[in-house]
Amino acid sequence: MIPYSRLFVPYVGQEEVLAFNEVVDQQWLGLGSKVSEFEHQWSSRFGYADSVAFNSATAALHLSLSVYKFAPGSKVLVPALTFVSTAFAAIYNQLDVVFVDCCERTLGMCPIDLEKKYTSDCVAIIPMHYGGEPCAIDVITEFAKLHNLIVIEDCAHTQGNCYMGKQLGMWGDIGCYSFEEKKGMTTGDGGIACSVDSELLTTLRSKRWVGIDKDTWKRSNDVVNLDSKHWFYSIEDIGYKYNMNNVAASIGIAQLAKLTYINSKKTQIINRYLSNLQYLPHVKPILPYSCINQENSSYWIFGVRTQSRDALMRHLMAMNIATGVHFTPLNLQPYFSMHDSKDTPFSSSIYSQILSLPLHCFMNNSDVDFICESISDFFAKQ
Ligand SMILES: *Cc1c(COP(=O)(O)O)cnc(C)c1O
Repeated sequence: MIPYSRLFVPYVGQEEVLAFNEVVDQQWLGLGSKVSEFEHQWSSRFGYADSVAFNSATAALHLSLSVYKFAPGSKVLVPALTFVSTAFAAIYNQLDVVFVDCCERTLGMCPIDLEKKYTSDCVAIIPMHYGGEPCAIDVITEFAKLHNLIVIEDCAHTQGNCYMGKQLGMWGDIGCYSFEEKKGMTTGDGGIACSVDSELLTTLRSKRWVGIDKDTWKRSNDVVNLDSKHWFYSIEDIGYKYNMNNVAASIGIAQLAKLTYINSKKTQIINRYLSNLQYLPHVKPILPYSCINQENSSYWIFGVRTQSRDALMRHLMAMNIATGVHFTPLNLQPYFSMHDSKDTPFSSSIYSQILSLPLHCFMNNSDVDFICESISDFFAKQ
């Protein structure tokens, strides 16, 4: 049933069951050694100085921005075409959101519009790499340097793509990834904040653990002299219950071992889509897929752009082919109604032309061919 009736399917199996069993055997399910093991593996795989694991990317984004203690009411530049967590990271920190339009090519933050939207009360930028396609992060980080702005990269849609030879997530000050169950790799729910500057992350370990400056497991592992205050911890600042736990981390470790396979399988599916789409004049690939020939290419979305989005969606739904739209621009959402969607005209118009198609490890070339034939049939009947 699965191959094309669902857009995204996590690639989990026996390896994750074994990892979970090990955690049960250790009788330590909460924050513990598996979490730090996962953090170390993540840092060394991608070359970060340090990584801090959370129960979601939403939490990672929230606390990454909180590191800088920006004055309430300062402004954060955020893409309009993104998942809501990118913008909520600012709102949670009592900061105001300024929406920036997306580029026609990458659907990521447009540097020209960024310059237009910038005012001197802006303090940070949260660019997002849509679908895994690198946004113009080189230009964005240059602009940020010029105006003394912090850059938090929302890397929820990729686990591995590079831009100009440099890992996405390393261009900005802190990079945040998601392990939500529909994302490229999963821990059920989870996220991670990473940096090449470990100093930046020092407050995050206590902040994700209700402000406690010593992890419980560390205290229990300390070789304590029974007179010493091994039970003691201090709370210096407000904290949140945002930690990843050992159950999630053990699944993450198993997933990380499969990430090369997951990415290469999706690369193969995308290449099949791209070669089939050459013969379909009414649809264009949603992204340029400029990383597709790189080693460890890691995309989250495959989709198309078409003038007949809604009708095509209905046709594919009737064929039991899953489709989705990523995303309704945030300034078209009721919560953000004080922001005028006319300020980001390209996002407002492109979103009615984009359609995401199934992309996951359980698909093979004939599934892709069937989906593309179904698209072809739809336009033949027009
Ligand atoms: C999924 C997603 C998030 C949030 O990830 P969670 O781990 O579910 O909190 C943030 N930003 C973008 C762009 C996303 O797609």
